[in-house]
Amino acid sequence: MIKEMTCVVCPNGCLLQVEYEKQGDQVAIQRITGNLCKRGLEYARQEMVSPRRTIASSILVEGGSMPLVSVRTSGPIPKAMIFPVMAEIRKCSVKAPVQAGTVLIPNVLDLGVDIIATRTVE
Ligand code: SF4
Repeated sequence: MIKEMTCVVCPNGCLLQVEYEKQGDQVAIQRITGNLCKRGLEYARQEMVSPRRTIASSILVEGGSMPLVSVRTSGPIPKAMIFPVMAEIRKCSVKAPVQAGTVLIPNVLDLGVDIIATRTVE
């Protein structure tokens, strides 16, 4: 089987073709083409075995100059954990002020990734 995907590691956005076989629940990758560099190989392997995403959202701020502060994960999380992490973010609120870069939820759901403010709210 062949799966096509766009590498999102850099702005080149190489169109990758992954030849693979399914063996039960396992994916056996036979060949990856279309990548201009090695990072595309790693991206394609990760996407086939355990796709991950960095997510962005916002958290309520009490008493701030704005009602919300934008946040993101400090690194990619498994795609299957996006909705549970979003639920944790929705449950959270913080008191103003919030500085950009502050960890608002450390090690969310034990994923080894923090939820970080991406702007300052006075
Ligand atoms: S394969 Fe390399 S050059 Fe192509 S998009 Fe991915 S990181 Fe960029």
